[in-house]
Amino acid sequence: MEGGNGPDFSKGVSTDRLPDGEMLLGHIGQEEVILARRGGEFFAVGAKCSHYSGPLVEGLMLSDELRCPWHHACFSLHTGEALHAPAFDAVPCWRVERIGETVFVREKLSAPGRARASVSPQKAPASVVIVGGGAAGFAAAEMLRREAYEGRVTIISADEAAPYDRPNLSKDYLAGTAQEDWIPLRPSDFYGERRIDLLLNSRVASLDAKRKSLQLDNGRSFEFDALLLATGAEPVTLSIPGASDAQLHYLRTFADSRALSEKAASAKQVLVIGASFIGLEVAASLRTRGAAVHVVAPEQQPLERVMGREVGRFIRGLHETNGVVFHLGETVARVDGRNATLSGGGTLETDLIIVGVGVRPSLALAEQAGLKMDRGVVVDEYLQTSVPGIFAAGDIARWPDPHSGGLVRIEHWVVAERQGQVAARNILGRRERFNAVPFFWTQQYGVSISYVGHAEKWDAVQIDGSLEAQDCAVTYKLAGRTLAVATISRDLQSLKVEAAMEASVRTGSA
Ligand SMILES: Cc1cc2nc3c(=O)[nH]c(=O)nc-3n(C[C@H](O)[C@H](O)[C@H](O)COP(=O)(O)OP(=O)(O)OC[C@H]3O[C@@H](n4cnc5c(N)ncnc54)[C@H](O)[C@@H]3O)c2cc1C
Repeated sequence: MEGGNGPDFSKGVSTDRLPDGEMLLGHIGQEEVILARRGGEFFAVGAKCSHYSGPLVEGLMLSDELRCPWHHACFSLHTGEALHAPAFDAVPCWRVERIGETVFVREKLSAPGRARASVSPQKAPASVVIVGGGAAGFAAAEMLRREAYEGRVTIISADEAAPYDRPNLSKDYLAGTAQEDWIPLRPSDFYGERRIDLLLNSRVASLDAKRKSLQLDNGRSFEFDALLLATGAEPVTLSIPGASDAQLHYLRTFADSRALSEKAASAKQVLVIGASFIGLEVAASLRTRGAAVHVVAPEQQPLERVMGREVGRFIRGLHETNGVVFHLGETVARVDGRNATLSGGGTLETDLIIVGVGVRPSLALAEQAGLKMDRGVVVDEYLQTSVPGIFAAGDIARWPDPHSGGLVRIEHWVVAERQGQVAARNILGRRERFNAVPFFWTQQYGVSISYVGHAEKWDAVQIDGSLEAQDCAVTYKLAGRTLAVATISRDLQSLKVEAAMEASVRTGSA
Protein backbone atom coordinates (compact mmCIF):
# COMPACT_ATOMS: atom_id res chain seq x y z
CA MET A 1 0.00 0.00 0.00
CA GLU A 2 1.21 3.52 -0.78
CA GLY A 3 0.90 6.49 1.57
CA GLY A 4 0.15 10.09 0.56
CA ASN A 5 3.80 10.54 -0.29
CA GLY A 6 4.26 7.56 -2.60
CA PRO A 7 5.75 4.12 -2.10
CA ASP A 8 7.67 2.97 0.92
CA PHE A 9 11.07 2.53 -0.70
CA SER A 10 12.30 0.27 2.08
CA LYS A 11 9.87 -2.35 0.75
CA GLY A 12 11.31 -2.14 -2.75
CA VAL A 13 10.12 -0.71 -6.05
CA SER A 14 10.03 -2.47 -9.38
CA THR A 15 12.48 -1.03 -11.90
CA ASP A 16 9.56 -0.82 -14.37
CA ARG A 17 8.21 2.08 -12.35
CA LEU A 18 11.32 4.10 -12.90
CA PRO A 19 12.36 4.57 -16.52
CA ASP A 20 15.82 5.94 -17.28
CA GLY A 21 16.10 9.66 -16.46
CA GLU A 22 12.99 9.70 -14.27
CA MET A 23 12.38 10.36 -10.58
CA LEU A 24 9.87 8.90 -8.19
CA LEU A 25 8.69 10.42 -4.91
CA GLY A 26 8.29 8.04 -1.99
CA HIS A 27 9.36 7.75 1.60
CA ILE A 28 11.49 5.99 4.18
CA GLY A 29 9.73 6.18 7.51
CA GLN A 30 8.54 9.77 7.88
CA GLU A 31 11.10 11.17 5.47
CA GLU A 32 10.21 12.05 1.90
CA VAL A 33 12.73 10.56 -0.50
CA ILE A 34 13.33 10.75 -4.23
CA LEU A 35 14.46 7.69 -6.10
CA ALA A 36 16.17 8.66 -9.33
CA ARG A 37 17.47 6.57 -12.20
CA ARG A 38 20.24 7.30 -14.61
CA GLY A 39 20.94 4.39 -16.92
CA GLY A 40 21.62 1.42 -14.68
CA GLU A 41 22.31 3.59 -11.64
CA PHE A 42 19.78 4.43 -8.93
CA PHE A 43 20.05 7.22 -6.37
CA ALA A 44 18.01 8.05 -3.30
CA VAL A 45 18.11 11.59 -1.92
CA GLY A 46 15.97 13.83 0.29
CA ALA A 47 12.96 15.33 -1.49
CA LYS A 48 13.24 18.91 -0.24
CA CYS A 49 15.75 21.52 -1.32
CA SER A 50 17.84 22.67 1.63
CA HIS A 51 17.44 26.30 0.53
CA TYR A 52 13.66 26.99 0.72
CA SER A 53 12.33 23.40 0.76
CA GLY A 54 11.47 23.39 -2.96
CA PRO A 55 10.12 20.07 -4.31
CA LEU A 56 13.18 18.48 -5.93
CA VAL A 57 11.09 15.83 -7.69
CA GLU A 58 9.75 18.63 -9.89
CA GLY A 59 13.28 19.69 -10.71
CA LEU A 60 15.73 18.62 -13.37
CA MET A 61 18.04 15.65 -13.29
CA LEU A 62 21.10 16.37 -15.35
CA SER A 63 23.86 13.84 -15.50
CA ASP A 64 24.53 13.13 -11.81
CA GLU A 65 23.07 16.41 -10.56
CA LEU A 66 19.62 17.35 -9.37
CA ARG A 67 18.43 20.95 -9.68
CA CYS A 68 15.70 22.60 -7.64
CA PRO A 69 12.78 24.06 -9.62
CA TRP A 70 12.40 27.12 -7.38
CA HIS A 71 15.78 28.88 -7.26
CA HIS A 72 18.01 26.48 -9.25
CA ALA A 73 20.10 25.13 -6.37
CA CYS A 74 22.06 22.10 -7.53
CA PHE A 75 22.82 18.87 -5.64
CA SER A 76 25.00 15.86 -6.28
CA LEU A 77 22.94 12.69 -6.67
CA HIS A 78 25.90 10.67 -5.37
CA THR A 79 26.48 12.53 -2.13
CA GLY A 80 23.64 15.02 -1.73
CA GLU A 81 26.17 17.84 -1.55
CA ALA A 82 24.89 21.31 -2.46
CA LEU A 83 27.13 21.89 -5.47
CA HIS A 84 25.89 25.34 -6.44
CA ALA A 85 24.14 28.05 -4.43
CA PRO A 86 21.59 29.16 -3.33
CA ALA A 87 21.61 25.98 -1.22
CA PHE A 88 24.61 25.36 1.04
CA ASP A 89 23.50 22.34 3.05
CA ALA A 90 23.54 18.87 1.57
CA VAL A 91 20.31 16.92 1.17
CA PRO A 92 20.32 13.49 2.84
CA CYS A 93 21.31 10.44 0.82
CA TRP A 94 20.46 6.75 1.20
CA ARG A 95 22.17 3.61 0.01
CA VAL A 96 20.31 1.90 -2.81
CA GLU A 97 20.40 -1.82 -3.53
CA ARG A 98 19.07 -3.52 -6.63
CA ILE A 99 18.03 -7.15 -6.35
CA GLY A 100 16.88 -8.51 -9.68
CA GLU A 101 14.22 -6.12 -10.96
CA THR A 102 13.51 -4.57 -7.56
CA VAL A 103 15.25 -1.55 -6.06
CA PHE A 104 15.43 -1.10 -2.29
CA VAL A 105 16.40 2.02 -0.40
CA ARG A 106 18.48 1.02 2.63
CA GLU A 107 20.21 3.00 5.37
CA LYS A 108 20.92 6.70 5.34
CA LEU A 109 24.49 7.58 4.42
CA SER A 110 26.60 9.88 6.50
CA ALA A 111 27.14 13.49 5.41
CA PRO A 112 28.76 13.97 2.01
CA GLY A 113 32.34 13.04 1.75
CA ARG A 114 33.20 14.36 -1.65
CA ALA A 115 36.66 13.26 -2.69
CA ARG A 116 38.37 16.62 -2.92
CA ALA A 117 41.56 17.54 -4.56
CA SER A 118 43.54 18.45 -1.48
CA VAL A 119 44.56 22.06 -1.21
CA SER A 120 48.10 22.38 -2.46
CA PRO A 121 50.15 24.27 0.14
CA GLN A 122 52.13 25.86 -2.70
CA LYS A 123 49.03 27.28 -4.32
CA ALA A 124 46.91 28.04 -1.26
CA PRO A 125 47.39 31.45 0.36
CA ALA A 126 48.36 31.67 4.03
CA SER A 127 45.34 33.88 4.79
CA VAL A 128 42.22 35.08 3.00
CA VAL A 129 40.40 38.30 3.78
CA ILE A 130 36.91 38.86 2.41
CA VAL A 131 35.55 42.40 2.38
CA GLY A 132 31.76 42.19 2.55
CA GLY A 133 29.49 39.91 4.52
CA GLY A 134 26.73 39.56 1.95
CA ALA A 135 25.86 36.94 -0.64
CA ALA A 136 29.27 36.61 -2.30
CA GLY A 137 31.33 37.07 0.86
CA PHE A 138 29.45 34.46 2.83
CA ALA A 139 29.44 31.93 -0.02
CA ALA A 140 33.18 32.35 -0.48
CA ALA A 141 34.01 31.82 3.19
CA GLU A 142 31.74 28.79 3.40
CA MET A 143 33.33 27.29 0.29
CA LEU A 144 36.90 27.88 1.47
CA ARG A 145 36.18 25.73 4.50
CA ARG A 146 34.21 23.16 2.52
CA GLU A 147 37.24 22.83 0.26
CA ALA A 148 39.25 21.97 3.36
CA TYR A 149 41.23 25.20 3.34
CA GLU A 150 43.09 25.38 6.64
CA GLY A 151 44.45 28.95 6.59
CA ARG A 152 42.96 31.99 8.27
CA VAL A 153 39.65 33.28 6.87
CA THR A 154 38.36 36.71 7.86
CA ILE A 155 35.15 38.39 6.74
CA ILE A 156 35.06 42.13 7.32
CA SER A 157 31.58 43.54 7.01
CA ALA A 158 30.25 47.04 7.43
CA ASP A 159 26.88 45.54 8.31
CA GLU A 160 25.85 45.14 11.95
CA ALA A 161 24.30 41.73 11.22
CA ALA A 162 25.95 38.44 10.28
CA PRO A 163 25.25 37.33 6.67
CA TYR A 164 21.53 37.07 5.98
CA ASP A 165 18.97 36.29 3.32
CA ARG A 166 18.72 39.68 1.63
CA PRO A 167 16.04 38.73 -0.95
CA ASN A 168 13.66 37.89 1.88
CA LEU A 169 13.86 41.43 3.25
CA SER A 170 11.46 42.84 0.67
CA LYS A 171 9.27 39.73 0.53
CA ASP A 172 8.03 37.55 3.42
CA TYR A 173 9.97 39.37 6.12
CA LEU A 174 8.55 42.76 5.18
CA ALA A 175 5.10 41.26 4.72
CA GLY A 176 5.36 40.02 8.31
CA THR A 177 5.09 36.36 7.30
CA ALA A 178 8.71 35.28 7.92
CA GLN A 179 10.12 34.68 11.35
CA GLU A 180 13.17 36.56 12.49
CA ASP A 181 15.26 33.36 12.65
CA TRP A 182 14.66 32.57 8.94
CA ILE A 183 16.79 35.52 7.93
CA PRO A 184 20.39 34.72 9.03
CA LEU A 185 22.09 32.44 6.49
CA ARG A 186 23.69 30.56 9.36
CA PRO A 187 23.33 30.46 13.16
CA SER A 188 25.95 32.56 14.94
CA ASP A 189 27.99 29.56 16.18
CA PHE A 190 28.65 28.51 12.55
CA TYR A 191 31.44 31.07 12.20
CA GLY A 192 33.29 29.92 15.29
CA GLU A 193 32.90 26.28 14.36
CA ARG A 194 34.35 26.89 10.90
CA ARG A 195 37.06 29.19 12.20
CA ILE A 196 35.79 32.11 10.18
CA ASP A 197 36.61 35.42 11.86
CA LEU A 198 33.56 37.55 11.31
CA LEU A 199 34.10 41.23 11.99
CA LEU A 200 30.81 43.12 11.93
CA ASN A 201 30.26 46.89 12.03
CA SER A 202 33.68 47.18 10.42
CA ARG A 203 34.17 49.27 7.31
CA VAL A 204 37.32 48.95 5.22
CA ALA A 205 38.44 52.47 4.40
CA SER A 206 41.53 51.82 2.27
CA LEU A 207 43.33 49.07 0.45
CA ASP A 208 47.00 48.93 -0.44
CA ALA A 209 47.14 46.33 -3.20
CA LYS A 210 50.94 46.31 -3.38
CA ARG A 211 51.55 45.89 0.32
CA LYS A 212 48.59 43.50 0.62
CA SER A 213 47.11 45.37 3.51
CA LEU A 214 43.88 47.14 4.29
CA GLN A 215 42.76 49.56 6.88
CA LEU A 216 39.44 49.95 8.63
CA ASP A 217 37.88 53.34 9.27
CA ASN A 218 38.74 52.89 12.96
CA GLY A 219 42.42 52.66 12.05
CA ARG A 220 42.86 48.91 12.57
CA SER A 221 44.81 47.27 9.77
CA PHE A 222 44.92 43.80 8.27
CA GLU A 223 47.36 41.99 6.06
CA PHE A 224 46.23 39.40 3.58
CA ASP A 225 47.69 36.89 1.24
CA ALA A 226 44.57 36.69 -0.94
CA LEU A 227 41.65 39.10 -0.96
CA LEU A 228 38.06 38.93 -2.16
CA LEU A 229 36.21 42.18 -2.64
CA ALA A 230 32.47 41.67 -2.30
CA THR A 231 31.20 45.06 -1.25
CA GLY A 232 27.85 44.82 -3.05
CA ALA A 233 25.75 47.87 -3.77
CA GLU A 234 23.95 50.72 -2.09
CA PRO A 235 20.58 52.22 -2.88
CA VAL A 236 20.57 55.26 -5.15
CA THR A 237 19.36 58.11 -2.97
CA LEU A 238 17.01 60.91 -3.97
CA SER A 239 16.84 64.47 -2.94
CA ILE A 240 13.25 65.72 -3.11
CA PRO A 241 12.43 69.34 -2.33
CA GLY A 242 10.74 69.59 1.06
CA ALA A 243 11.55 66.00 2.11
CA SER A 244 13.95 65.45 4.99
CA ASP A 245 16.44 62.55 4.72
CA ALA A 246 14.66 60.87 7.63
CA GLN A 247 11.41 60.86 5.65
CA LEU A 248 12.84 58.92 2.71
CA HIS A 249 13.38 55.23 3.50
CA TYR A 250 15.56 52.80 1.58
CA LEU A 251 15.84 49.04 1.74
CA ARG A 252 19.15 47.22 1.58
CA THR A 253 19.94 45.83 5.01
CA PHE A 254 18.27 43.71 7.65
CA ALA A 255 18.16 46.84 9.86
CA ASP A 256 16.40 48.76 7.05
CA SER A 257 13.80 46.02 6.69
CA ARG A 258 13.24 45.84 10.44
CA ALA A 259 12.80 49.59 10.67
CA LEU A 260 10.39 49.56 7.73
CA SER A 261 8.41 46.68 9.24
CA GLU A 262 7.99 48.66 12.45
CA LYS A 263 6.84 51.75 10.58
CA ALA A 264 4.61 49.72 8.28
CA ALA A 265 2.76 48.27 11.26
CA SER A 266 1.03 51.61 11.80
CA ALA A 267 1.27 53.15 8.31
CA LYS A 268 -2.02 53.50 6.47
CA GLN A 269 -0.87 55.34 3.34
CA VAL A 270 2.39 54.21 1.79
CA LEU A 271 4.11 55.95 -1.09
CA VAL A 272 6.65 53.88 -3.03
CA ILE A 273 8.91 55.89 -5.32
CA GLY A 274 10.25 53.72 -8.14
CA ALA A 275 8.80 50.68 -9.89
CA SER A 276 12.01 48.63 -9.57
CA PHE A 277 11.95 45.01 -8.36
CA ILE A 278 12.53 46.21 -4.82
CA GLY A 279 9.91 48.97 -5.10
CA LEU A 280 7.34 46.50 -6.40
CA GLU A 281 8.15 43.77 -3.89
CA VAL A 282 7.84 46.37 -1.12
CA ALA A 283 4.48 47.46 -2.56
CA ALA A 284 3.25 43.85 -2.62
CA SER A 285 4.48 43.12 0.92
CA LEU A 286 2.89 46.24 2.36
CA ARG A 287 -0.41 45.52 0.59
CA THR A 288 -0.28 42.14 2.34
CA ARG A 289 -0.11 44.10 5.60
CA GLY A 290 -3.20 46.05 4.56
CA ALA A 291 -1.74 49.51 3.87
CA ALA A 292 -2.96 51.60 0.93
CA VAL A 293 -0.04 51.72 -1.51
CA HIS A 294 0.70 54.23 -4.29
CA VAL A 295 3.64 53.73 -6.66
CA VAL A 296 5.11 56.74 -8.47
CA ALA A 297 7.60 56.05 -11.29
CA PRO A 298 8.70 57.80 -14.48
CA GLU A 299 8.40 54.79 -16.82
CA GLN A 300 5.28 53.82 -18.78
CA GLN A 301 5.16 50.25 -17.43
CA PRO A 302 6.88 48.85 -14.36
CA LEU A 303 10.03 46.81 -15.11
CA GLU A 304 9.69 47.55 -18.81
CA ARG A 305 13.43 48.12 -19.27
CA VAL A 306 14.33 44.73 -17.77
CA MET A 307 11.41 42.51 -18.75
CA GLY A 308 9.71 44.27 -21.66
CA ARG A 309 6.34 45.92 -22.15
CA GLU A 310 4.21 42.75 -22.03
CA VAL A 311 5.58 41.49 -18.70
CA GLY A 312 5.47 45.07 -17.39
CA ARG A 313 1.79 45.31 -18.25
CA PHE A 314 1.12 41.98 -16.54
CA ILE A 315 2.95 43.05 -13.38
CA ARG A 316 1.07 46.32 -13.32
CA GLY A 317 -2.23 44.44 -13.63
CA LEU A 318 -1.21 42.07 -10.86
CA HIS A 319 -0.55 44.98 -8.52
CA GLU A 320 -3.71 46.83 -9.54
CA THR A 321 -5.81 43.73 -8.91
CA ASN A 322 -4.29 43.74 -5.43
CA GLY A 323 -5.20 47.37 -4.89
CA VAL A 324 -1.97 49.26 -5.70
CA VAL A 325 -2.47 52.62 -7.44
CA PHE A 326 0.20 53.52 -10.01
CA HIS A 327 1.20 57.03 -11.03
CA LEU A 328 3.36 56.20 -14.04
CA GLY A 329 5.14 58.76 -16.18
CA GLU A 330 5.45 60.89 -13.03
CA THR A 331 7.94 61.74 -10.33
CA VAL A 332 7.55 63.23 -6.86
CA ALA A 333 8.20 66.95 -7.21
CA ARG A 334 7.86 67.97 -3.58
CA VAL A 335 7.01 66.70 -0.14
CA ASP A 336 5.39 68.87 2.51
CA GLY A 337 4.88 66.95 5.72
CA ARG A 338 2.34 64.25 4.88
CA ASN A 339 1.63 65.60 1.38
CA ALA A 340 3.52 64.59 -1.73
CA THR A 341 3.05 66.65 -4.90
CA LEU A 342 3.59 64.78 -8.15
CA SER A 343 5.18 66.21 -11.30
CA GLY A 344 1.75 66.14 -12.98
CA GLY A 345 0.31 68.39 -10.24
CA GLY A 346 -1.65 65.72 -8.30
CA THR A 347 -1.14 65.27 -4.56
CA LEU A 348 -0.99 62.19 -2.35
CA GLU A 349 -1.27 61.88 1.37
CA THR A 350 1.31 59.57 2.89
CA ASP A 351 2.67 58.49 6.24
CA LEU A 352 5.54 56.34 4.90
CA ILE A 353 7.74 56.97 1.86
CA ILE A 354 10.00 54.22 0.50
CA VAL A 355 12.41 54.87 -2.34
CA GLY A 356 13.35 52.00 -4.66
CA VAL A 357 15.01 53.60 -7.65
CA GLY A 358 17.91 51.20 -8.14
CA VAL A 359 21.32 50.63 -6.65
CA ARG A 360 24.86 51.73 -7.31
CA PRO A 361 27.76 49.27 -6.88
CA SER A 362 30.04 50.05 -3.92
CA LEU A 363 33.26 50.64 -5.84
CA ALA A 364 35.09 53.20 -3.72
CA LEU A 365 37.58 50.75 -2.27
CA ALA A 366 38.50 49.14 -5.59
CA GLU A 367 38.86 52.55 -7.22
CA GLN A 368 41.05 53.86 -4.42
CA ALA A 369 43.27 50.76 -4.69
CA GLY A 370 43.80 51.41 -8.39
CA LEU A 371 42.16 48.23 -9.69
CA LYS A 372 41.03 48.24 -13.29
CA MET A 373 37.48 49.59 -13.44
CA ASP A 374 34.79 49.77 -16.11
CA ARG A 375 31.44 50.62 -14.48
CA GLY A 376 32.35 47.91 -11.99
CA VAL A 377 35.49 46.05 -10.96
CA VAL A 378 36.85 44.34 -14.06
CA VAL A 379 37.63 40.67 -13.47
CA ASP A 380 38.74 37.87 -15.77
CA GLU A 381 36.87 34.59 -16.27
CA TYR A 382 38.42 33.38 -12.99
CA LEU A 383 37.03 36.43 -11.17
CA GLN A 384 40.52 37.80 -10.56
CA THR A 385 40.92 41.59 -10.75
CA SER A 386 43.76 43.36 -12.54
CA VAL A 387 45.91 42.65 -9.45
CA PRO A 388 46.90 38.99 -8.97
CA GLY A 389 45.62 37.59 -5.69
CA ILE A 390 42.76 40.10 -5.49
CA PHE A 391 39.39 38.75 -6.60
CA ALA A 392 35.98 40.41 -6.87
CA ALA A 393 32.49 38.93 -6.88
CA GLY A 394 28.84 39.89 -6.73
CA ASP A 395 27.21 43.21 -7.51
CA ILE A 396 30.55 44.98 -8.03
CA ALA A 397 32.14 42.54 -10.50
CA ARG A 398 32.11 43.02 -14.27
CA TRP A 399 33.09 39.73 -15.85
CA PRO A 400 33.33 38.18 -19.32
CA ASP A 401 30.01 36.35 -19.63
CA PRO A 402 30.34 33.51 -22.15
CA HIS A 403 26.56 33.45 -22.69
CA SER A 404 26.11 37.02 -23.84
CA GLY A 405 29.67 37.28 -25.15
CA GLY A 406 30.44 40.56 -23.40
CA LEU A 407 31.48 42.03 -20.08
CA VAL A 408 28.51 42.16 -17.75
CA ARG A 409 27.76 43.28 -14.22
CA ILE A 410 24.61 41.75 -12.77
CA GLU A 411 22.82 42.36 -9.49
CA HIS A 412 21.36 38.92 -8.67
CA TRP A 413 21.53 36.97 -5.43
CA VAL A 414 22.39 33.59 -6.93
CA VAL A 415 25.00 35.06 -9.29
CA ALA A 416 26.73 36.73 -6.33
CA GLU A 417 26.72 33.52 -4.29
CA ARG A 418 28.00 31.41 -7.17
CA GLN A 419 30.71 33.92 -7.92
CA GLY A 420 31.72 33.79 -4.26
CA GLN A 421 31.98 30.01 -4.52
CA VAL A 422 34.04 30.07 -7.71
CA ALA A 423 36.29 32.88 -6.43
CA ALA A 424 36.96 30.81 -3.29
CA ARG A 425 38.08 27.82 -5.34
CA ASN A 426 40.24 30.04 -7.54
CA ILE A 427 41.84 31.59 -4.47
CA LEU A 428 42.90 28.02 -3.73
CA GLY A 429 44.45 27.75 -7.18
CA ARG A 430 41.74 25.72 -8.93
CA ARG A 431 41.51 27.86 -12.11
CA GLU A 432 37.77 27.42 -12.52
CA ARG A 433 35.99 29.62 -15.04
CA PHE A 434 32.87 31.42 -13.89
CA ASN A 435 30.39 30.43 -16.57
CA ALA A 436 27.10 30.01 -14.70
CA VAL A 437 24.01 31.17 -16.56
CA PRO A 438 22.67 34.23 -14.73
CA PHE A 439 19.46 33.49 -12.80
CA PHE A 440 17.14 35.57 -10.69
CA TRP A 441 13.64 35.44 -9.34
CA THR A 442 11.12 37.88 -8.01
CA GLN A 443 8.02 37.12 -6.01
CA GLN A 444 5.00 39.34 -5.74
CA TYR A 445 1.62 38.29 -4.27
CA GLY A 446 2.71 34.67 -4.39
CA VAL A 447 3.50 34.87 -8.14
CA SER A 448 7.09 33.90 -8.79
CA ILE A 449 8.89 34.95 -11.97
CA SER A 450 12.14 33.14 -12.76
CA TYR A 451 14.57 34.59 -15.28
CA VAL A 452 17.55 32.86 -16.85
CA GLY A 453 20.14 34.45 -19.12
CA HIS A 454 20.78 38.13 -19.56
CA ALA A 455 19.21 40.49 -22.09
CA GLU A 456 20.15 44.16 -21.97
CA LYS A 457 18.44 44.75 -25.29
CA TRP A 458 16.40 42.59 -27.60
CA ASP A 459 14.54 42.88 -30.88
CA ALA A 460 11.87 40.22 -30.35
CA VAL A 461 9.81 38.96 -27.44
CA GLN A 462 8.04 35.65 -27.87
CA ILE A 463 5.35 34.60 -25.41
CA ASP A 464 4.55 30.94 -25.13
CA GLY A 465 1.42 30.44 -23.01
CA SER A 466 -0.45 33.22 -21.28
CA LEU A 467 0.71 35.92 -18.90
CA GLU A 468 -2.86 36.51 -17.73
CA ALA A 469 -3.23 32.83 -16.86
CA GLN A 470 0.14 33.06 -15.04
CA ASP A 471 1.47 30.18 -17.07
CA CYS A 472 4.03 31.15 -19.67
CA ALA A 473 7.58 31.43 -20.93
CA VAL A 474 8.71 34.77 -22.34
CA THR A 475 11.76 34.57 -24.60
CA TYR A 476 13.93 37.63 -25.29
CA LYS A 477 15.82 37.38 -28.59
CA LEU A 478 18.33 39.47 -30.45
CA ALA A 479 19.01 38.72 -34.13
CA GLY A 480 17.27 35.37 -33.73
CA ARG A 481 19.35 34.29 -30.74
CA THR A 482 17.76 33.59 -27.36
CA LEU A 483 19.35 35.79 -24.70
CA ALA A 484 17.02 35.21 -21.78
CA VAL A 485 13.79 33.49 -20.81
CA ALA A 486 11.37 34.53 -18.06
CA THR A 487 8.86 31.97 -16.83
CA ILE A 488 5.79 31.88 -14.63
CA SER A 489 4.60 28.46 -13.35
CA ARG A 490 7.05 26.75 -15.70
CA ASP A 491 9.92 25.99 -13.39
CA LEU A 492 11.05 22.87 -15.20
CA GLN A 493 11.20 24.77 -18.49
CA SER A 494 13.31 27.44 -16.78
CA LEU A 495 15.78 24.74 -15.65
CA LYS A 496 15.86 23.25 -19.13
CA VAL A 497 16.59 26.63 -20.70
CA GLU A 498 19.42 27.10 -18.21
CA ALA A 499 20.82 23.68 -19.08
CA ALA A 500 20.56 24.39 -22.82
CA MET A 501 22.42 27.68 -22.37
CA GLU A 502 25.15 25.91 -20.42
CA ALA A 503 25.43 23.26 -23.11
CA SER A 504 25.69 25.84 -25.87
CA VAL A 505 28.67 27.44 -24.12
CA ARG A 506 30.31 24.04 -23.66
CA THR A 507 29.89 23.21 -27.35
CA GLY A 508 30.86 26.72 -28.42
CA SER A 509 27.52 27.44 -30.13
CA ALA A 510 26.60 30.39 -27.88
C1 LIG B 1 15.63 43.91 -0.52
C2 LIG B 1 16.35 43.18 -1.61
C3 LIG B 1 15.74 42.12 -2.25
C4 LIG B 1 16.39 41.43 -3.26
N1 LIG B 1 15.77 40.39 -3.88
C5 LIG B 1 16.41 39.69 -4.83
C6 LIG B 1 15.78 38.59 -5.48
O1 LIG B 1 14.64 38.26 -5.19
N2 LIG B 1 16.47 37.90 -6.42
C7 LIG B 1 17.74 38.26 -6.77
O2 LIG B 1 18.32 37.62 -7.63
N3 LIG B 1 18.37 39.31 -6.18
C8 LIG B 1 17.73 40.04 -5.23
N4 LIG B 1 18.36 41.11 -4.63
C9 LIG B 1 19.72 41.46 -5.05
C10 LIG B 1 20.76 40.66 -4.26
O3 LIG B 1 20.46 40.70 -2.89
C11 LIG B 1 22.15 41.20 -4.53
O4 LIG B 1 22.42 41.05 -5.91
C12 LIG B 1 23.21 40.46 -3.70
O5 LIG B 1 22.98 40.63 -2.34
C13 LIG B 1 24.60 40.93 -4.07
O6 LIG B 1 25.51 40.25 -3.27
P1 LIG B 1 26.93 40.91 -2.90
O7 LIG B 1 27.62 39.92 -2.06
O8 LIG B 1 27.57 41.43 -4.12
O9 LIG B 1 26.54 42.21 -2.03
P2 LIG B 1 25.73 42.34 -0.70
O10 LIG B 1 24.89 41.15 -0.45
O11 LIG B 1 25.07 43.68 -0.76
O12 LIG B 1 26.85 42.40 0.42
C14 LIG B 1 27.77 43.45 0.44
C15 LIG B 1 28.45 43.48 1.79
O13 LIG B 1 29.58 44.34 1.76
C16 LIG B 1 29.59 45.13 2.92
N5 LIG B 1 30.43 46.30 2.63
C17 LIG B 1 30.27 47.23 1.67
N6 LIG B 1 31.31 48.09 1.69
C18 LIG B 1 32.14 47.68 2.67
C19 LIG B 1 33.39 48.15 3.17
N7 LIG B 1 34.02 49.21 2.67
N8 LIG B 1 33.96 47.49 4.22
C20 LIG B 1 33.37 46.39 4.76
N9 LIG B 1 32.20 45.91 4.29
C21 LIG B 1 31.59 46.55 3.27
C22 LIG B 1 28.14 45.38 3.21
O14 LIG B 1 27.92 45.81 4.54
C23 LIG B 1 27.59 43.99 2.93
O15 LIG B 1 27.78 43.16 4.04
C24 LIG B 1 17.70 41.83 -3.64
C25 LIG B 1 18.32 42.91 -3.01
C26 LIG B 1 17.66 43.59 -1.99
C27 LIG B 1 18.32 44.75 -1.31
